[in-house]
Amino acid sequence: MLPLGAPPWHHEPMTDFARTRSAFHLPEGITYLDGNSLGPLPVAAEARVAAMLRDEWGAKLITGWNDAGWMAQPARIGDRIGRLIGAPAGTVVTGDTLSIKVYQALAAALALRPDRRVVLSDSGNFPTDLYMAEGLLRLMGGDYELRVVAPEAVEEALDDSVAALMLTQVDYRTGRMHDMAALTAAAHRAGAVAIWDLAHSAGAIEVDLTGAQADFAVGCTYKFLNSGPGGPAFIYVAPAHAETADPVLQGWLGHAAPFAFDRDYRPGQGIERMRVGTPPVIQMAALEAALDVWDGVRMADVRARAIVLSERFIAGVEAACPALTLASPRDAAMRGSQVSFRHPEGNAIMQALIAEGVIGDFRAPDILRFGITPLYLDEGDIDRAVSVLARIMDGQLWDTPAFRTRKAVT
Ligand SMILES: *Cc1c(COP(=O)(O)O)cnc(C)c1O
Repeated sequence: MLPLGAPPWHHEPMTDFARTRSAFHLPEGITYLDGNSLGPLPVAAEARVAAMLRDEWGAKLITGWNDAGWMAQPARIGDRIGRLIGAPAGTVVTGDTLSIKVYQALAAALALRPDRRVVLSDSGNFPTDLYMAEGLLRLMGGDYELRVVAPEAVEEALDDSVAALMLTQVDYRTGRMHDMAALTAAAHRAGAVAIWDLAHSAGAIEVDLTGAQADFAVGCTYKFLNSGPGGPAFIYVAPAHAETADPVLQGWLGHAAPFAFDRDYRPGQGIERMRVGTPPVIQMAALEAALDVWDGVRMADVRARAIVLSERFIAGVEAACPALTLASPRDAAMRGSQVSFRHPEGNAIMQALIAEGVIGDFRAPDILRFGITPLYLDEGDIDRAVSVLARIMDGQLWDTPAFRTRKAVT
């Protein structure tokens, strides 16, 4: 789709979704609506990881750190992710897990506002973000406070006690989306630093960290970016803070000269300082293959397609399953790339769906969650999911002791 008003000679190619779909291993008979939780296997990742094991680790042994570029990989891959989230080259680095990066970003943000004591977040945030914040604030001692308000009340809760506003842009349960630019501007007016968690944004919606003037951002790569279970997280530091941000987790690989083995810590240049320890090189190989799929993909195309598919899914479910209540915002502009419905027996219904080959997930207490991922989903998948769900609801096929049992991972 061309941008509105684009001249006819505007020939930037549209995203080829047939190509992207064929780039994933999608098991026969499965309709996968859970790419917001764990993306599917990119076909090329198998060979890429095998080659890494054989030709790099196997053949090069420790010389791989230099000869296979392992040491430069975290920032090189960070730049590729940067393109998808509106971050310039040299502002994003990969490594660790998202929980760790949340801790690091928040600690660095608090160091920028040493005279303030409040971290502001919302009740829609993912628990690990709030747990990590609590642990950090306890360690900092004294009168630090985590203030958690309703998502709608964030802006009015910003006052001159707030050091950092820490939000996840897209609510993991409902898909409700915060206005990043507006809330960042409000945080700045209050003198606070803004940290954004892009777990459900990167690869899902158009993100413009530069335009929004976000201070810090973090995210994971195993959801919409498809790096596989345990794939590394990423962190963004705005250019304005690049040379002053305190990495706090002073690992040796964030040191200015790791192999000088200095007794004294000196932070590395720019984003390099946010590295901590040895990068997960095997997992990075899978991530590289996953990012290859994104080459030639425009986030605007992905977003437009996700809205078409989401609207189709909502209309289909509402027409066929009156017992399910839409939990996501009805306005597509307020919704990320997932659609959620509520039902008191949501867990059993999701178990029944999965048994029929339609995979979504369940979030307590009553949310059925469906990820809408245009890279590998089309109208046929959406229609199949709707018809299977309708059959399960019509026949109450979910109402069995087996489906009512809660699994360890839902
Ligand atoms: C998925 C998710 C996480 C997961 O953190 P890990 O450390 O990667 O397990 C954290 N925060 C948010 C908002 C998430 O959606």
